[in-house]
Order: sequence, then C-alpha cells, then structure tokens
Amino acid sequence: MKRIQIREIKGLSFEASAEKEEIVKISGWVDVRRDHGKLIFIDLRDATGKVQLVVLPSEKEAHQIADTVRPEWVIEVEGEAKRRPDNMANADSELGGFEVLVKKISVLNEAKTPPFEIGTDGYEVGEEVRLKYRYLDLRRERLQKNIRDRYRALKFIRDYLTDKDFVEIETPILTKSTPEGARDFVVPSRTQKGKFYALPQSPQQYKQLLMASGFEKYFQIAKCMRDEDTRSDRQPEFTQLDMEMAFTEKEDIMNLNEALIIGMVKELMPEKKIKEIPFPRLPFKEVMEKYGTDRPDLREDKNDPNELAFCWVVDFPFFEKNDKGGWTFTHNPFSAPAKEYEEMLMKKENVGEIIATQYDLVLNGFEIAGGSIRNHRPEALKKVFEILGFSDEEIGKNFGHMLSAFEYGAPPHGGIAFGLDRIVAILKNEPSIREVIAFPKTGDSRDLMMDAPSEISQEQLDELGIEIKKNKD
Ligand code: ASP
Repeated sequence: MKRIQIREIKGLSFEASAEKEEIVKISGWVDVRRDHGKLIFIDLRDATGKVQLVVLPSEKEAHQIADTVRPEWVIEVEGEAKRRPDNMANADSELGGFEVLVKKISVLNEAKTPPFEIGTDGYEVGEEVRLKYRYLDLRRERLQKNIRDRYRALKFIRDYLTDKDFVEIETPILTKSTPEGARDFVVPSRTQKGKFYALPQSPQQYKQLLMASGFEKYFQIAKCMRDEDTRSDRQPEFTQLDMEMAFTEKEDIMNLNEALIIGMVKELMPEKKIKEIPFPRLPFKEVMEKYGTDRPDLREDKNDPNELAFCWVVDFPFFEKNDKGGWTFTHNPFSAPAKEYEEMLMKKENVGEIIATQYDLVLNGFEIAGGSIRNHRPEALKKVFEILGFSDEEIGKNFGHMLSAFEYGAPPHGGIAFGLDRIVAILKNEPSIREVIAFPKTGDSRDLMMDAPSEISQEQLDELGIEIKKNKD
C-alpha cells in the first residue's frame, strides 16, 4: 500500500458518505499520546496536518506497540480512516472530523525526550536552546507556518516579476570587496596565497553590469553578507529581493514595487489593512523635521497587528561628512544625483547640498527597501569616487571594471533591494527576523546548531598559507 499524507484523508472517497471507511497508510511523528485505560489515542502529525489515531485493545499487536510509543517517535500506521460523528468532531483542527482506527503500527524511529516542548508556540523557550536544536524547534506549528509563508511570499515575487519579463540571474558568492558601508566577510584563496575573495554585501555591481550586458530587467532572491557588530535583530547573512531595470525612472521603480507589495499583501495576508495607497512620498528633510527619524512609524494604532503603514522617503542628501572630516555616501556610491544637481557633482561644488535619486521604503517604522537611479556615465561615477577621497589609482583598482563597462554603452538604469526577512517578519507579526529564517544565527553571529564559526585544521591553514596569531596572554 502506498503512503498518503495526512491531509489527503480529507479527499478520500468516503467524503460523500458518513458510513464508509477507507484503508490508509500514513506516517509521521507522535504529537501526543493519550492512554484511556484500554483505548489509546495518538495524535499523528506529518507535514500536512494532524489526525487522531484510535488503537483498540482488540488489535493486540498494534496496541502493544502503541503502549510504548512516546512523543516525537516516527511511526507508520495502517488503518481505517473514517469520519467522526458530528458531535465528536474537533472543530479546532483541520482534520478534527476524521480519525484512523489502527490495524498495524511500525516504529520507524524512536526519539529521545526533546529538550523543550514542541506543541507550544516556543516564545517561552530560551533562544540559545531553540537555536541549538533548531531542527526540533522548526517542528513547531508556528515555525512550520512561518517558513511556508515565507516561501509563499518568495513564490509570489518570482511569479509576479517573471510575468513582467524579469529574469532571475544568480551572481557570484565568491567575489571582490564592495563599498556598501559595512565590513566584508573574506575568504582566503588557496591557489593565490595572500589573496582573498569577499562575500557580497549585495549584488549591486553585478546587477549593474547585467544592465550593461543588455538584460534590461533583472531580479534575484539574493543572499547578502555583512560583517557588522552585534545588533539584536540583524543577521550577518540575510536575504534580499534585488532588482535592477534599464531605461527606467525613479517613479517606474517605485510604482512597480509598490504594486508588487500591495499584490503580495492582498494575496497572502488579506487580513492586513494598508493605511494609504498610493504610498505617501515624503522628502527626507520634511520627515526628519516632523518625526526626527527617516523611518517614521505612520500607523494610527501602533498596537494593531493588522495595520500596515508604508511610505517612501525621497530626496536624501548624497554625501555626509565622515568622522575624519572627509565625505562619505549616505546610501550607495553608485547612485546618480537628482537631475538638477548633476552639474554640482561634475564640478564637485557644494557637495553637502547634492540630493541623490535614492528612495527608501519604510513600513511601520522599519526600512524595508532602498534603491536609486544609478550613475551610468563613467565620468559622473568617477566624480563620486573622487569626492569620496579615492586616488585615481584606487579608483582604477577598485572600480575600473565598472567604469570600463560603462564606457561601452551602458544604458541608464536603476533598481532597488528589499530586506525579505524583515518584510516577512512584519507580515507575520514576529518580533525578530530569526523567527522567519530557517537556520538563523545568534545576535553575535554564531550558528549554535552547527557550532560555527569553528577552528579549522592545521593542514587547512597550511594549505591557505595562514598563520593564526596567538593571544598575547
Ligand atoms: N544594493 C543596495 C543595498 O543593498 C540596494 C540598491 O540600491 O539596489 O542596500
């Protein structure tokens, strides 16, 4: 007999008649076992749902085994699936109207007593132990739902953009350091000792190079890595919806992404109410004066989990002073200035007044996306690097490939990137992005389950030509 998944019980032919039963083979995890003297009840759980098993003492062999099973054991069962009489149906559960009268049980694997309850929402369990036993933590219903809903969001995005002629293109993970404002994670090269790859802080340069390559509409669900100091709700690696378009203007990108987000919320979270459509567009200066932050929380009722208040923040200054008295970029060195500031950039005059084409999308007080129109003319891009204090030699070494690519007919282009973990967390009313990432790291960047980072062998170090400095004490 072929195994069916628990939810399939609902679709069996006895649906039409309350009398008929059907023999099924199902398997999964013991959720709860209740011993009612002679009768044993087991709630069996698989990826699709839970159903009650009934083991009668007359089924001697099955009853003996049922007596020994414990929560989280993996079992396979054959029995008669039937509808429960209406007055006994459990309305709280999707399959509460069905049960399986067990004829045969096989134990596929036993389980140690888990270090924490799996039947709860898990908020009451310490995070360290949840992350150490993440494979057990993920069994709980809340996390199963979060990870599945995350996938639904990704699928919605992929379908939506595919329909609009976007192409999803993967870009390298082993790459070169990019100036996105954070510290790079680096990977030593074995074949070229003393040289290092950097893990991408975002696919920024590759996506712009793809515009120079003629793809016109690119997106990627991309992993980004930034080696930042501990921050409670940040992850050293996170997922972006990254996007870039050629022959486009600021409003095109904002409108497309606004429609994408509204469509996603309506389809996946119909209970959520979007406060204002179209999303308000607020100049940075005004937002700072009014709210004292460029991430205003515009919800009317901040306790309402179903209110979504989006706004675009625009007209950011391009540059700001760094602590050494020089200029640094506020968002992205590849951005173009707003049209009326192009001349100022070319002359490198009144640098602090230059406004960028940057737009950030804010949701309930969190920045969830940011992007800009780019500087596609090499001479303008070069001016930005000069203002940032790079010498000609440094510009050539670090950005020569971008400048060179733009000398061969790069189209005007622009794009945006969304922090997907954050969006999913907000939509799921989760307090932390770790609740919507399958295998997150701790706040101090450790993977407690895999025990990473960890030391590597002397042999590996020798191959890489790396010597570890010993602590002095
Ligand atoms: N690469 C930028 C970031 O990661 C987003 C963009 O401008 O497309 O923030």
